[in-house]
Amino acid sequence: MDEKLAELTIEIKQCEACHLKDNRTQVVPGIYGPKNSLCIIGEAPGFNEDKEGFPFVGRSGKLLDKMLESINFSRQQISILNVVKCRPTDENMGNRTPNESELKFCGERWLYKQLNSLTPKLIVTLGGISLKFFFPSAKVTKSAGKVLTLDEGYPIFATFHPAYILRNYNKIEEYSAHFQEISKLYDQFNGERIIGKTSRSEQKSLTDFM
Ligand code: SF4
Repeated sequence: MDEKLAELTIEIKQCEACHLKDNRTQVVPGIYGPKNSLCIIGEAPGFNEDKEGFPFVGRSGKLLDKMLESINFSRQQISILNVVKCRPTDENMGNRTPNESELKFCGERWLYKQLNSLTPKLIVTLGGISLKFFFPSAKVTKSAGKVLTLDEGYPIFATFHPAYILRNYNKIEEYSAHFQEISKLYDQFNGERIIGKTSRSEQKSLTDFM
């Protein structure tokens, strides 16, 4: 890990900038692969992630690992991040989906900085929540299997959250096909950026967060 990313990660781990600090066990900054690689982005840590300190553990994580293996990727080769770094909880201390302001606040504070350090070749959003962070009006049902592009040229492939596939196992073939597409795109984008196909005026520039 380079020095800038290491310093940033220490800052993230110490963050107490919002109310989600109150019920967390620990901050989950994510795991980093090499620069210019594949970067998978989910929404927020759940119970298991909060306890273990890593993203996508438990059943969802196992399915994600299986999908990655099917295209010859391991966790060591890629980065896995969440938009929100602390576990959102409901009134019974169960898992909760992060709301719009939590996504915006944490994501704008940390995620763009991580991406600027990692300069991923291809970003993959898992589920509708992380997709919405980048493209607020996008719906995963319409965008899954497609590439959207940030103003700065980062290509984003949208697909489903593995937890959704575990609940809707009839979608597994479609999910597998998405991962095959991710593999193809990854090779196709080797070292290159695609410039602004679906620019959105409401998006912040990545450089705004440097
Ligand atoms: S959710 Fe994000 S902004 Fe809030 S305390 Fe955790 S790291 Fe900081």
